[in-house]
Formats: sequence, C-alpha cells, structure tokens
Amino acid sequence: AKAAGGNRYELADADSDARAIARHGLTNRLPAALDNGEFFIEYQPLVRLEDGTVRGAEALVRWLHPVHGVLGPDRFIPLAESTGLIVPLGRWVLAEAARQARSWHTDGPDGTPFRVNVNLSPSQLRYPGLVADTVAVLQDAGLDPSALCLEVTENALIGADEEELRPLRQLADLGVDIALDDFGTGYSNLSYLRRLPVSTLKLDRSFTRGMQCAPADPVDVKIVEGIVSLAHTLDLSVTVEGVETGTQADHLRLLGCDTAQGWYYARPGPPDRLHTLSLADAAS
Ligand code: C2E
Ligand code: CA
Ligand code: CA
Ligand code: CA
Repeated sequence: AKAAGGNRYELADADSDARAIARHGLTNRLPAALDNGEFFIEYQPLVRLEDGTVRGAEALVRWLHPVHGVLGPDRFIPLAESTGLIVPLGRWVLAEAARQARSWHTDGPDGTPFRVNVNLSPSQLRYPGLVADTVAVLQDAGLDPSALCLEVTENALIGADEEELRPLRQLADLGVDIALDDFGTGYSNLSYLRRLPVSTLKLDRSFTRGMQCAPADPVDVKIVEGIVSLAHTLDLSVTVEGVETGTQADHLRLLGCDTAQGWYYARPGPPDRLHTLSLADAAS
C-alpha cells in the first residue's frame, strides 16, 4: 500500500491486494481440484417455446471448494483460461456432459435427440487438439455428434479468419451443432454471421429483460423481431437466455424465438432432476 495519499488509497490497495491473493490461491489450487474431482456440473433445461417440451440442457460447471464452498464459473473460468488449465478442465466437462447425455437417452417424440450444450472458451478454440478430443469423447460416450451443441461466444469469434474457424467447421461438418453464445453483446457485423459455421443464436439476457413487463418495451420488441427474422432467413435457430417470467416467455414465443432457457423453467440443477422434468413433459 502507498505510504502517502491517505486512508482511502491504502484501503483500495489493501482490497486489491486481498483480491489478488485470493485469485492467486484459487489459481494455484485449480490443478489439484481437477485431480481431486472437486468440479461438478449442473444442467439447465432448454425448452422448446412452441410446446414447452424440454429438448436439452446446458452444462454449467461449478467448483465445490473445500474451504469456500460452491464457486460459480465466473470465479474460476477466467483463472483457468489465463493459466491454460481450461483445456483439461473443458475436456473433463465435455466428457462428463457427453456421458450424462448418453445416459439420459431420452429422444424427443419427433426423433430429435435430447441434446447437451457445452461451453467452449477462447483458448479451447485455439487448442490444436480440439477436434480430435471432441471426436474421442463422443466415441467413448457412444454419443451421436448431433446430440452435442458447443457454445462459443460472439466475442471469441469476432475477427476469426477462415483458418481459425476451421476446427469449428470440421465439428459442424461432423454434425455437432455450434451456437453463438451471448449474441448481441459483441460488435460483429451481421453479414459476418453468414461466414460462421453456426446453427443457433443464443440471444443474450440483456434483450429479454425488456420483455418482463406487459406491454413489453417496444424498442426491445423491435430488436428481437429483427434478430429473429434475420436468424430465420439464415436458417439459424434462436435460443433466448434469462427467461425469468411467464410474461417474458409469452412475448418471446410470439416473437418467433425457438428455444428458451431461464429460471422461469428451471434453475441449473443436478442431472437426475432434468430426467424427471422431461419425463413429466412426456407424460403431460
Ligand atoms: P453463459 O454461458 O451465458 O450461461 C448462462 C448463465 O446464466 C449461467 O450462469 C446461468 O446459471 C445463468 N442463468 C440461467 N438462467 C437465468 C435466469 O433466468 N436469470 C439469470 N439472471 N441468470 C440465469 P453461470 O452458471 O454462473 O455461468 C456463468 C458463465 O460461466 C456462463 O455464461 C459461461 O460463459 C461460463 N461457463 C459455465 N460453465 C462453463 C464451462 O464448462 N466452460 C466454460 N468455458 N465456461 C463455462
Ligand atoms: Ca452458454
Ligand atoms: Ca450466454
Ligand atoms: Ca454470459
């Protein structure tokens, strides 16, 4: 901490020191945490708006830290990303989610498989073994590539050239669905969308907020309308994130969004709960 400058600055420095130490501590423990099996996955259902059926789930990783309890991914994914541990951690998440998806084997009534969505971070995209690893994981799990959706953020792809997109294109050619996550938060120009091997847009939560009230925010309605129409023109499906109320779900369904995810349907939870959710759907 600075000697001069008064208490305010000393406090600010002490605070950032403490945060740096905490970050350092977490970062150091990451490899052991992976070895010790301290990570686990919660699944959040993806619901088809047209009929309310569960079509799949997004895998969201958590860390059961022996001292701090359950830590959310925002606390440790950036650390794993900056140290390179994200590659083995991401491989573990993928393998675990694929194994889980295989064990659900609840194919939809119209033959579409119950899918699992897995997040990919930018370093995983740059990792040369991504395609081979993914193929191996699918084979080991006995999971069809079409039952897997990889979510990549818009920001991770902005500016990517053909060379950098090749692994994703290879995975898409194998039948893996690629979703553009947090869509609308980046600055990608829309014509760029045509060049990406993606089949789903995941509309960021910030757009669904304006749908919380009735009538919905007219500007947000226009934006979502425009995005849905563009997406459907390009043959992309639209998933909306952060749906917290029935009002939002109604608005978004009427606007033509295809799939929804959010607390209104279910919070992320253990994999067995998802099975009962989809069984309940099949029964109703
Ligand atoms: P994301 O991919 O955008 O995931 C959606 C986040 O929104 C999740 O937060 C989810 O719990 C939360 N959410 C879902 N429904 C609602 C809702 O109705 N309202 C609100 N307010 N929030 C909702 P979570 O689980 O904390 O994950 C945060 C981020 O961490 C994810 O954002 C994703 O970018 C990253 N992440 C999670 N798991 C993994 C992973 O296995 N690998 C990588 N690379 N990143 C991951
Ligand atoms: Ca995601
Ligand atoms: Ca997202
Ligand atoms: Ca996000």
